[in-house]
Amino acid sequence: MDFGLKGKVALVTAASKGMGKACAMSFAAEGARVAICARTESDVKTVADEIRTKTGAEVLAMRADVTNAADVRAFVGRTVETFGGVDILVANAGGPPRGGLDEMTDEQWHAAFDVTVVSVVRLIREVVPSMRRRGWGRILTIQSVSVKQPVDGLLLSNATRPGVAGLMKTLVPELGRDNITFNVVCPGRIMTDRFLGGAKQAGLPVDDYVAKSATDVPLRRIGTPEEFANVVVFLASERASYVTGVTIQVDGGVVRGIL
Ligand code: NAD
Repeated sequence: MDFGLKGKVALVTAASKGMGKACAMSFAAEGARVAICARTESDVKTVADEIRTKTGAEVLAMRADVTNAADVRAFVGRTVETFGGVDILVANAGGPPRGGLDEMTDEQWHAAFDVTVVSVVRLIREVVPSMRRRGWGRILTIQSVSVKQPVDGLLLSNATRPGVAGLMKTLVPELGRDNITFNVVCPGRIMTDRFLGGAKQAGLPVDDYVAKSATDVPLRRIGTPEEFANVVVFLASERASYVTGVTIQVDGGVVRGIL
Protein backbone atom coordinates (compact mmCIF):
# COMPACT_ATOMS: atom_id res chain seq x y z
CA MET A 1 0.00 0.00 0.00
CA ASP A 2 1.30 3.46 -0.85
CA PHE A 3 0.83 5.58 2.26
CA GLY A 4 1.26 8.81 0.30
CA LEU A 5 3.96 10.02 2.67
CA LYS A 6 6.72 10.72 0.14
CA GLY A 7 8.03 14.25 0.64
CA LYS A 8 5.74 14.97 3.61
CA VAL A 9 7.31 16.65 6.62
CA ALA A 10 6.91 14.70 9.88
CA LEU A 11 7.88 16.35 13.15
CA VAL A 12 8.36 13.87 15.99
CA THR A 13 9.27 14.99 19.51
CA ALA A 14 11.09 12.96 22.18
CA ALA A 15 12.61 10.84 19.43
CA SER A 16 16.10 9.87 20.64
CA LYS A 17 14.84 6.43 21.61
CA GLY A 18 11.78 4.25 22.13
CA MET A 19 8.55 4.83 20.27
CA GLY A 20 9.44 8.37 19.14
CA LYS A 21 12.56 7.07 17.41
CA ALA A 22 10.65 4.14 15.86
CA CYS A 23 8.02 6.54 14.48
CA ALA A 24 10.69 8.82 12.97
CA MET A 25 12.45 5.84 11.40
CA SER A 26 9.18 4.52 9.92
CA PHE A 27 8.22 7.90 8.45
CA ALA A 28 11.68 8.18 6.91
CA ALA A 29 11.37 4.68 5.46
CA GLU A 30 8.12 5.83 3.79
CA GLY A 31 9.95 8.70 2.08
CA ALA A 32 8.99 11.49 4.49
CA ARG A 33 11.40 14.19 5.64
CA VAL A 34 11.67 14.11 9.41
CA ALA A 35 12.41 16.60 12.16
CA ILE A 36 13.27 15.09 15.54
CA CYS A 37 14.11 16.47 18.96
CA ALA A 38 15.05 15.33 22.45
CA ARG A 39 16.70 16.98 25.43
CA THR A 40 20.27 15.83 24.70
CA GLU A 41 21.78 17.14 21.48
CA SER A 42 24.32 14.32 21.02
CA ASP A 43 21.62 11.63 21.39
CA VAL A 44 19.28 13.19 18.86
CA LYS A 45 22.13 13.77 16.37
CA THR A 46 23.20 10.12 16.66
CA VAL A 47 19.65 8.98 15.92
CA ALA A 48 19.46 11.38 12.96
CA ASP A 49 22.62 9.81 11.50
CA GLU A 50 21.17 6.34 12.00
CA ILE A 51 17.94 7.32 10.20
CA ARG A 52 19.86 8.90 7.30
CA THR A 53 22.09 5.85 6.93
CA LYS A 54 19.20 3.38 7.01
CA THR A 55 16.71 5.27 4.84
CA GLY A 56 18.52 8.04 2.96
CA ALA A 57 15.90 10.48 4.27
CA GLU A 58 16.47 14.17 5.02
CA VAL A 59 16.54 14.58 8.80
CA LEU A 60 16.62 17.71 10.94
CA ALA A 61 17.78 17.03 14.50
CA MET A 62 17.61 19.56 17.30
CA ARG A 63 17.90 19.73 21.07
CA ALA A 64 14.53 20.72 22.51
CA ASP A 65 12.70 20.04 25.76
CA VAL A 66 8.96 19.87 25.09
CA THR A 67 8.22 21.37 28.52
CA ASN A 68 10.00 24.57 27.46
CA ALA A 69 7.87 26.94 25.35
CA ALA A 70 10.89 28.65 23.73
CA ASP A 71 12.41 25.28 22.76
CA VAL A 72 9.14 24.16 21.16
CA ARG A 73 8.82 27.40 19.21
CA ALA A 74 12.43 27.21 18.04
CA PHE A 75 12.12 23.56 17.00
CA VAL A 76 8.96 24.07 14.95
CA GLY A 77 10.37 27.33 13.52
CA ARG A 78 13.59 25.61 12.36
CA THR A 79 11.54 22.79 10.81
CA VAL A 80 9.40 25.24 8.83
CA GLU A 81 12.52 27.17 7.76
CA THR A 82 14.33 23.99 6.69
CA PHE A 83 11.54 22.01 5.05
CA GLY A 84 9.02 24.74 4.17
CA GLY A 85 6.30 23.59 6.59
CA VAL A 86 4.98 20.77 8.76
CA ASP A 87 2.48 18.13 7.59
CA ILE A 88 2.56 15.67 10.48
CA LEU A 89 3.03 16.18 14.21
CA VAL A 90 3.68 13.30 16.57
CA ALA A 91 3.59 14.87 20.03
CA ASN A 92 5.52 12.61 22.38
CA ALA A 93 7.25 13.17 25.73
CA GLY A 94 8.59 11.25 28.68
CA GLY A 95 5.79 10.11 30.96
CA PRO A 96 5.16 11.41 34.49
CA PRO A 97 6.71 9.45 37.39
CA ARG A 98 5.09 6.50 39.19
CA GLY A 99 3.53 6.91 42.61
CA GLY A 100 0.31 7.16 44.57
CA LEU A 101 -1.70 9.90 46.27
CA ASP A 102 0.47 10.30 49.37
CA GLU A 103 3.74 10.43 47.46
CA MET A 104 2.96 13.21 44.99
CA THR A 105 3.55 16.89 45.79
CA ASP A 106 1.73 19.82 44.19
CA GLU A 107 4.91 20.52 42.20
CA GLN A 108 4.84 17.00 40.77
CA TRP A 109 1.18 17.41 39.82
CA HIS A 110 1.97 20.66 38.01
CA ALA A 111 5.00 19.09 36.30
CA ALA A 112 2.89 16.12 35.16
CA PHE A 113 0.26 18.45 33.67
CA ASP A 114 3.02 20.42 31.97
CA VAL A 115 4.79 17.46 30.37
CA THR A 116 1.64 15.57 29.41
CA VAL A 117 -0.94 18.20 28.49
CA VAL A 118 0.69 21.63 28.06
CA SER A 119 3.49 20.29 25.85
CA VAL A 120 0.89 18.94 23.40
CA VAL A 121 -1.06 22.23 23.45
CA ARG A 122 2.10 24.19 22.64
CA LEU A 123 3.15 21.88 19.84
CA ILE A 124 -0.30 22.00 18.25
CA ARG A 125 -0.38 25.80 18.49
CA GLU A 126 2.98 26.03 16.74
CA VAL A 127 2.28 23.61 13.86
CA VAL A 128 -1.32 24.56 13.02
CA PRO A 129 -0.54 27.77 11.06
CA SER A 130 1.66 25.79 8.65
CA MET A 131 -0.89 22.97 8.30
CA ARG A 132 -3.64 25.51 7.63
CA ARG A 133 -1.57 27.08 4.86
CA ARG A 134 -1.02 23.65 3.33
CA GLY A 135 -4.67 22.61 3.75
CA TRP A 136 -3.49 19.24 5.09
CA GLY A 137 -2.41 18.07 8.51
CA ARG A 138 -2.13 15.04 10.76
CA ILE A 139 -1.82 15.59 14.49
CA LEU A 140 -1.05 12.56 16.61
CA THR A 141 0.02 12.13 20.18
CA ILE A 142 1.57 9.19 21.99
CA GLN A 143 -0.18 8.74 25.34
CA SER A 144 -0.96 5.49 27.21
CA VAL A 145 -3.70 2.93 27.76
CA SER A 146 -4.26 4.93 30.96
CA VAL A 147 -6.51 7.11 28.75
CA LYS A 148 -8.91 4.13 28.62
CA GLN A 149 -8.19 2.23 31.83
CA PRO A 150 -6.18 3.35 34.89
CA VAL A 151 -2.78 1.68 35.22
CA ASP A 152 -1.87 0.60 38.79
CA GLY A 153 0.75 2.85 40.38
CA LEU A 154 0.56 5.54 37.69
CA LEU A 155 -1.74 8.09 39.31
CA LEU A 156 -0.27 11.10 37.48
CA SER A 157 -0.55 9.42 34.08
CA ASN A 158 -4.09 8.18 34.82
CA ALA A 159 -5.18 11.66 35.89
CA THR A 160 -3.58 13.75 33.15
CA ARG A 161 -3.51 11.69 29.93
CA PRO A 162 -7.31 11.49 29.50
CA GLY A 163 -7.18 15.30 29.37
CA VAL A 164 -5.09 15.08 26.20
CA ALA A 165 -7.76 12.91 24.59
CA GLY A 166 -10.31 15.59 25.57
CA LEU A 167 -8.11 18.29 24.04
CA MET A 168 -7.69 16.40 20.77
CA LYS A 169 -11.40 15.54 20.47
CA THR A 170 -12.30 19.19 21.09
CA LEU A 171 -10.07 20.36 18.25
CA VAL A 172 -11.53 17.90 15.71
CA PRO A 173 -14.44 20.12 14.56
CA GLU A 174 -12.49 23.36 14.98
CA LEU A 175 -9.75 22.31 12.56
CA GLY A 176 -11.60 19.77 10.46
CA ARG A 177 -12.42 22.46 7.89
CA ASP A 178 -8.67 22.87 7.38
CA ASN A 179 -8.32 19.14 6.65
CA ILE A 180 -6.37 18.56 9.86
CA THR A 181 -7.04 15.28 11.70
CA PHE A 182 -6.42 14.53 15.40
CA ASN A 183 -5.83 11.05 16.77
CA VAL A 184 -4.45 9.66 20.03
CA VAL A 185 -2.31 6.49 20.01
CA CYS A 186 -2.02 4.64 23.30
CA PRO A 187 0.75 2.14 24.01
CA GLY A 188 0.14 -0.74 26.41
CA ARG A 189 3.46 -2.48 27.15
CA ILE A 190 6.05 -1.72 24.51
CA MET A 191 9.67 -2.88 24.69
CA THR A 192 11.53 0.38 25.28
CA ASP A 193 13.99 1.62 27.92
CA ARG A 194 11.10 3.09 29.83
CA PHE A 195 9.29 -0.24 29.94
CA LEU A 196 12.46 -2.14 30.88
CA GLY A 197 13.14 0.38 33.66
CA GLY A 198 10.17 -1.24 35.42
CA ALA A 199 12.32 -4.32 36.13
CA LYS A 200 14.47 -2.40 38.60
CA GLN A 201 11.42 -0.90 40.28
CA ALA A 202 9.86 -4.35 40.58
CA GLY A 203 13.17 -5.77 41.90
CA LEU A 204 13.21 -8.46 39.19
CA PRO A 205 15.80 -9.61 36.64
CA VAL A 206 14.90 -8.14 33.24
CA ASP A 207 13.92 -11.50 31.67
CA ASP A 208 11.64 -12.36 34.60
CA TYR A 209 10.06 -8.91 34.45
CA VAL A 210 9.39 -9.21 30.72
CA ALA A 211 7.91 -12.71 31.11
CA LYS A 212 5.77 -11.66 34.08
CA SER A 213 4.54 -8.51 32.29
CA ALA A 214 3.41 -10.57 29.31
CA THR A 215 1.25 -13.00 31.28
CA ASP A 216 -1.85 -10.81 31.38
CA VAL A 217 -1.47 -9.50 27.82
CA PRO A 218 -3.95 -11.42 25.65
CA LEU A 219 -1.32 -11.72 22.87
CA ARG A 220 1.11 -13.05 25.55
CA ARG A 221 4.03 -10.80 24.65
CA ILE A 222 5.33 -7.24 24.92
CA GLY A 223 4.90 -5.15 21.76
CA THR A 224 7.78 -3.73 19.74
CA PRO A 225 8.29 0.00 19.04
CA GLU A 226 7.98 -0.85 15.32
CA GLU A 227 4.53 -2.40 15.82
CA PHE A 228 3.51 0.79 17.56
CA ALA A 229 4.99 2.98 14.82
CA ASN A 230 3.07 1.07 12.13
CA VAL A 231 -0.21 2.35 13.58
CA VAL A 232 1.11 5.90 13.86
CA VAL A 233 2.30 5.86 10.25
CA PHE A 234 -1.07 4.61 9.01
CA LEU A 235 -2.98 7.30 10.94
CA ALA A 236 -0.60 9.95 9.60
CA SER A 237 -0.96 8.75 6.04
CA GLU A 238 -3.12 9.75 3.12
CA ARG A 239 -4.91 6.40 3.56
CA ALA A 240 -6.35 7.53 6.94
CA SER A 241 -7.88 10.66 5.42
CA TYR A 242 -11.33 10.09 7.02
CA VAL A 243 -10.14 9.02 10.48
CA THR A 244 -10.18 11.77 13.08
CA GLY A 245 -11.00 11.98 16.77
CA VAL A 246 -10.13 8.39 17.61
CA THR A 247 -8.17 7.12 20.59
CA ILE A 248 -6.66 3.79 19.64
CA GLN A 249 -4.66 1.48 21.85
CA VAL A 250 -1.72 -0.60 20.60
CA ASP A 251 -1.63 -2.98 23.53
CA GLY A 252 -1.98 -6.62 22.48
CA GLY A 253 -5.48 -6.59 23.99
CA VAL A 254 -4.67 -5.33 27.51
CA VAL A 255 -7.60 -2.89 27.70
CA ARG A 256 -10.71 -4.93 28.49
CA GLY A 257 -13.27 -2.19 27.85
CA ILE A 258 -15.44 -2.58 24.77
CA LEU A 259 -14.80 0.92 23.38
P1 NAD B 1 11.65 6.02 26.21
O1 NAD B 1 12.12 6.27 27.59
O2 NAD B 1 12.16 4.85 25.45
O3 NAD B 1 11.91 7.32 25.31
C1 NAD B 1 11.49 8.57 25.76
C2 NAD B 1 12.07 9.64 24.86
O4 NAD B 1 11.54 10.89 25.31
C3 NAD B 1 13.57 9.77 24.93
O5 NAD B 1 14.04 10.06 23.63
C4 NAD B 1 13.78 10.99 25.85
O6 NAD B 1 15.00 11.62 25.60
C5 NAD B 1 12.61 11.83 25.41
N1 NAD B 1 12.14 12.86 26.34
C6 NAD B 1 11.71 12.67 27.61
N2 NAD B 1 11.29 13.83 28.13
C7 NAD B 1 11.44 14.77 27.17
C8 NAD B 1 11.19 16.17 27.11
N3 NAD B 1 10.71 16.83 28.17
N4 NAD B 1 11.46 16.83 25.95
C9 NAD B 1 11.96 16.17 24.89
N5 NAD B 1 12.23 14.85 24.89
C10 NAD B 1 11.98 14.17 26.02
O7 NAD B 1 10.04 6.02 26.33
P2 NAD B 1 8.90 5.30 25.49
O8 NAD B 1 8.63 3.99 26.13
O9 NAD B 1 9.16 5.37 24.03
O10 NAD B 1 7.65 6.22 25.90
C11 NAD B 1 7.11 7.27 25.13
C12 NAD B 1 5.85 7.74 25.81
O11 NAD B 1 4.91 6.65 25.90
C13 NAD B 1 6.09 8.19 27.27
O12 NAD B 1 5.24 9.27 27.55
C14 NAD B 1 5.69 6.97 28.07
O13 NAD B 1 5.28 7.30 29.38
C15 NAD B 1 4.52 6.46 27.25
N6 NAD B 1 4.20 5.05 27.49
C16 NAD B 1 5.12 4.08 27.28
C17 NAD B 1 4.77 2.74 27.49
C18 NAD B 1 5.72 1.61 27.25
O14 NAD B 1 5.37 0.45 27.52
N7 NAD B 1 6.89 1.82 26.73
C19 NAD B 1 3.47 2.44 27.93
C20 NAD B 1 2.55 3.46 28.12
C21 NAD B 1 2.93 4.77 27.89
